[in-house]
Amino acid sequence: MARDYYGTLGVSKGATDQEIKRAYRKLAREHHPDVNPDESAQVRFQEISAAYEVLSDPDKRRIVDLGGDPLETSGGGGGGFGGAGFGGGLGDVFEAFFGGGAGGSRGPRGRVQPGADSLLRTRLTLEECARGVTKSVTVDTAILCDECTGSGTHGDSKPVRCETCGGAGEVQSVQRSFLGQVMTSRPCPTCRGAGETIPDPCRKCGGDGRVRARREITVKVPAGVGNGMRIRLAAQGEVGPGGGPAGDLYVEVIEQQHEVFVRDGDDLHCTVRVPMVDAALGTSVTLETILDGPTEIAVAPGTQPGSVTVLRGHGMPKLRSGTRGDLHAHLEVVVPSRLDSKQTKLLEELRRNNERDHAEVVTNGSQHSGGLFSRLRDAFSAR
Ligand SMILES: [Zn+2]
Ligand SMILES: [Zn+2]
Repeated sequence: MARDYYGTLGVSKGATDQEIKRAYRKLAREHHPDVNPDESAQVRFQEISAAYEVLSDPDKRRIVDLGGDPLETSGGGGGGFGGAGFGGGLGDVFEAFFGGGAGGSRGPRGRVQPGADSLLRTRLTLEECARGVTKSVTVDTAILCDECTGSGTHGDSKPVRCETCGGAGEVQSVQRSFLGQVMTSRPCPTCRGAGETIPDPCRKCGGDGRVRARREITVKVPAGVGNGMRIRLAAQGEVGPGGGPAGDLYVEVIEQQHEVFVRDGDDLHCTVRVPMVDAALGTSVTLETILDGPTEIAVAPGTQPGSVTVLRGHGMPKLRSGTRGDLHAHLEVVVPSRLDSKQTKLLEELRRNNERDHAEVVTNGSQHSGGLFSRLRDAFSAR
């Protein structure tokens, strides 16, 4: 039976951290053993401190909100708070009144722990990245043991206080050094810091409260995702030890290479091969785009090699924005490498009619088509 920590502090379930702290301060002032030597006040003070310890810790509060009891393991209510528990309470008093962490150990850490986050990768085509997709992914993870629903115990058996550490979760040892005797503490090797052990563990999970399982998870991938982006699925990660709340699952996108388009952020690039004559006379090419179907790309008469036609707003969708990047069609002018006799005759005739153009050495820094240096410079500044 989980204790009512909210009720102990007299706050509602939706209380803010500030409200919890305020309620705790007020109650702690009234019931602190230094102020109120009454024995019932001392018990009450321990309850209040325990409630504050739980509700001021997001992970522990999460366990409470899920119907669990993060302190269930630390000595079991009533007179269970020995020296260690009480010390923890005082730590909280200092924290609440003076701010700052209490520091140091706080007795047993509890068997119920939040689960780890997990990471999974999924390969998406450029089309899927552009349109968004609902994917089913398989993940090997830890789920709550359905046999014991996370308690880790078999049947009606209960965890017992660890005999090695007496429930403190840590063991002390004295070491001799040149400074004299030094007291060190480390997590209890028997209970691994939990302060309790399970004498009759669940047959299915061996006392861990969780089991390994393969799960199928549906991921909604929004339009505009790209390589390396991670989609967070809250509480779909591993269930924690002792059936603790699950961590998050991150699904990382691996974008596959497209056969036509190369992506650069929200822009797409493609190369269109234009025969020399088409570049000179002008033509149009139909491009099968990802989101807009067949799209005409006009090749203006006199198109030069390396020129780029930009289709604004025909690139990738920008994530969570309704706008899109641009599509850049890089026009590659192709000179025929083999001519038949008719073509040769036609081109020779063209040459005879064109006295103006002839091969020439370009001077560096010249305005048009640039010399080698300016072309190199343009290539670098474009990066
Ligand atoms: Zn122990
Ligand atoms: Zn189990």
